[in-house]
Amino acid sequence: MALSGRRAEPGEILAVVRPRPGVVGESKRVCHVVPIPESGRSAGPLAALCGEPVVPAEVEVLPQLSGMPCELCVANSTPGRAGPLPAAG
Ligand SMILES: [Zn+2]
Repeated sequence: MALSGRRAEPGEILAVVRPRPGVVGESKRVCHVVPIPESGRSAGPLAALCGEPVVPAEVEVLPQLSGMPCELCVANSTPGRAGPLPAAG
């Protein structure tokens, strides 16, 4: 199974965003993890770790993951948690 999107890099600033009410259906209002460019200034459209495009005007920034997190974003933002475990014994 291959995950899409990309992994967060060490030291990267991550933000949690969620589409504002009305932008998407309630069932799609999951929390995405978005890497923030180091300059603090987004030169273009952002993309969540899962690959979902993020339009700053259409999302609200959350202080932490809450509600329904995007599984792919969570997996990609946690280094070393995905992939096969080393064989023990
Ligand atoms: Zn996501």
